[in-house]
Amino acid sequence: MILPWMSAIVWPCMLAVPLAMTTPGSPLHYSEIFQKRWYEYDPSTDDVMPKPLGLSLGLLAVAVGQVLILCVFGGFKFGYFTMGQEPLSIQTKGARPYVFSEGVMTHLAQPEGFVLLFLYLAGTWMGKLMPDSYYSFEGGIEWVKVFGCLVAQDGIQYAMHRLEHDASPAFYKYSHKPHHKFTNPRLFDAFNGSILDTICMILIPLYATANIVHCNVWTYMAFGSMYANWLTLIHSEYTFPWDNLFHIFGFGTPADHHVHHAFFKYNYGHLFMWFDQLGNTYKHPSHFAPKAFNRNV
Ligand SMILES: [Zn+2]
Ligand SMILES: [Zn+2]
Repeated sequence: MILPWMSAIVWPCMLAVPLAMTTPGSPLHYSEIFQKRWYEYDPSTDDVMPKPLGLSLGLLAVAVGQVLILCVFGGFKFGYFTMGQEPLSIQTKGARPYVFSEGVMTHLAQPEGFVLLFLYLAGTWMGKLMPDSYYSFEGGIEWVKVFGCLVAQDGIQYAMHRLEHDASPAFYKYSHKPHHKFTNPRLFDAFNGSILDTICMILIPLYATANIVHCNVWTYMAFGSMYANWLTLIHSEYTFPWDNLFHIFGFGTPADHHVHHAFFKYNYGHLFMWFDQLGNTYKHPSHFAPKAFNRNV
């Protein structure tokens, strides 16, 4: 069955903008489109405000990635990759029914989602709060650092997530509880929570990660887009063709994250299950099959 695997195009789609702008010979290479003075900037000596090109391209990278993965997901959901059949839902009760356009609108318009993320990115960039390396356009995507950022981000997010659950009932109520109203989430619930939840679980880890791994602008873009899109994908109501492969490596899948939404005290990690394995909080989705979860998710 090759057809369902075509949905794996979501992974390169997330990286469309940084790949198109850094691959040598690409007609969209940044040196072909932009004049040097639009992006040449040294935060250690230049006293003026940072140039907004890097920020704008970063926002564009996430936006293009989101549009492309939502299109592929729509095709997947409506059976274009599965011979007209609805894909296998994670939970035995089936996927929650909803109108696709409502899902897209809710997903994009949450104030605690992309709106808050935009404010954070714009504020830290223009306020010169990012480490100097982030303002550099030199070199392409540094893949080892992209991976380093994803791991650091997920590790800190794991710690913050556990804190939100355990620090105090009142803190949980105002921060993370709103996201837990979904016990059988759909892809579009990824950023549906509260402002405090986004600050604790996404923005604080992002700021810490930026200070741990010093990237250039392309690496930051690739990491940011992969992170936002992967967080979206793990909320999918359906299993993806690559999930069994991901389980082998301990990469986060929708079923892993559904375990957290359905049972609360397992699988606090998002992109990787490694921190749960270390912290003894990991439960494989097969543990809940066939009663609550479908087999092979
Ligand atoms: Zn979630
Ligand atoms: Zn939680």
